[in-house]
Amino acid sequence: MRPLSRFLAAAFALFLAGCDGRGGGGTEHLRAPEPAGMAQAREAMVHMMEREDLRYRLKDPRVLAALRKVPRHRFVPEALASEAYENRPLPIGDGQTISQPFIVGYMTEVLDLKPWESVLEIGTGSGYQAAILGELAKEVYSIEIIEKLGLRAEALLQSLGYRNVHVRLGDGYRGWPEHAPFDAVIVTAAADQVPELLVEQLKMGGRMVIPLERSGAAAPEPGVQELVLLRKTPEGLKRETFFEVRFVPMTGEILGR
Ligand code: SAH
Repeated sequence: MRPLSRFLAAAFALFLAGCDGRGGGGTEHLRAPEPAGMAQAREAMVHMMEREDLRYRLKDPRVLAALRKVPRHRFVPEALASEAYENRPLPIGDGQTISQPFIVGYMTEVLDLKPWESVLEIGTGSGYQAAILGELAKEVYSIEIIEKLGLRAEALLQSLGYRNVHVRLGDGYRGWPEHAPFDAVIVTAAADQVPELLVEQLKMGGRMVIPLERSGAAAPEPGVQELVLLRKTPEGLKRETFFEVRFVPMTGEILGR
């Protein structure tokens, strides 16, 4: 081959590799056959979440497209696959749950991720939220404290082609400084305070969504938190509160503080 054609062939191969790899998430699962009815069930679920008569609904077309694409039934135990497209949390073992899909969609929507941004998730769990983030952001860094769950989620995300989603085992309380600063942080376990180090690892203008326990007289019943969006500004954290949610508690170092 002459040098120019060799160069063109190499460039084309690179282009193909780029198409197959990242850039808006994996696509392998689109080629894998799904059990009958899963696609319709998923469509019906997402359709329910964008209904205009709802007080809280999903509006962002990119988030809706991600929910239409990611096979949630692969992220729940096989015995529960037929319930994967009902709008509720499901057990994933070790006392943990995969969040309700509407909450996954809502938390993602308020983060308003751009395709070039990086996001840190605390609490990989099943990996479903990480996959949704992987469809929307450039890089996703997700930390899970329970080894079994983290390893399983990582293997599943890889098999589905999410090469832009990186899972690490450990305590997310201290974040992932090697990849900071992040454009966004999503905490998917309940905390009674905003972990300081996670705020430090946010870019100026960055967003954090977190289920926060309230204390004192205004506290809701135990096990219930408020979903909060924080924005890091030069004047401090700007806070927006949405509705009540129920997440499993964050464990690890935060408990000793
Ligand atoms: N985002 C998950 C749901 C998370 S459930 C999904 O889409 O399926 C909350 C998860 O947070 C659990 O898996 C729990 O083990 C994990 N977790 C709790 N405390 C943590 C900590 N300090 N660091 C990292 N993960 C933690």
